Amino acid sequence: MKVDSHSHSKFSPDGHAEIAEMAAKAKELGAGYLAITDHCDKDALQPGNEVPVPWRQLDIDAYYSDYKMVKAGERELYLAFGIEAGYDHRAEKLYREIIDKYPFDVVINSVHFVEGWDVYFPYFFEGKTKDVAYRMYFEKVYESLFADYPYDIVGHIGYCVRNAPYPDPVIHYEDYSDLLEPILRTIIRLGKTLEVNTHHDMCPNIEILKKYYEFGGRKISFGSDAHRGDVLKDYDKVSKTLKEIGFTHYTYFKQHIEEYEPIE
Ligand SMILES: [Zn+2]
Ligand SMILES: [Zn+2]
Repeated sequence: MKVDSHSHSKFSPDGHAEIAEMAAKAKELGAGYLAITDHCDKDALQPGNEVPVPWRQLDIDAYYSDYKMVKAGERELYLAFGIEAGYDHRAEKLYREIIDKYPFDVVINSVHFVEGWDVYFPYFFEGKTKDVAYRMYFEKVYESLFADYPYDIVGHIGYCVRNAPYPDPVIHYEDYSDLLEPILRTIIRLGKTLEVNTHHDMCPNIEILKKYYEFGGRKISFGSDAHRGDVLKDYDKVSKTLKEIGFTHYTYFKQHIEEYEPIE
């Protein structure tokens, strides 16, 4: 069966799909597990963090009640309840309270904000060289690994590349190995799962994934990061790449407990 551990429904500020539609689509494509992980952006509430577009906060009660309704009618698919927590050190207490309060299957911890800006937006890169900007991002990712709340998956390492305005925006591992090696080794040491995100290009890229494997990393999750019902995007292509590297199974979560599915 196919497993997708990262997707957004209409309850996310930038999501468009109904949970029921996403579940139907996932089943049609051969999924046995789909996690809805709507954006929980307590990072965006912290002083100094700027969102250049209107951004609303997730209504978790509304999200949970809709999820429960779809889940109740679901027989074939394991529909998991999750959030993607946007990391900011100052929001740790808020996330701890939220994670305590709801029966999440899975929590993805993702860095979106770096020193005041969501690195998705070109504003972040103004006046910064690629080296300066990417290093700031990787330092924040490293810090996020020690977040003081229970999370399961480290989201989309390399997210800073999406709209980076450089002639060669690719992260070349050797240019940042002094920061990437500690990140990958810490993920392994803490027993966390590294996500492969296919929303844009495969993220992290193949160089980083190969190093993770080389260092002993085996826990990997698939995340389409679908915002428009496009669950399982590039699943077969990415699975083939991961198998070539040596990975044998995807890790996914039910009630924060790891399960494994062979990569086929
Ligand atoms: Zn994200
Ligand atoms: Zn996401």
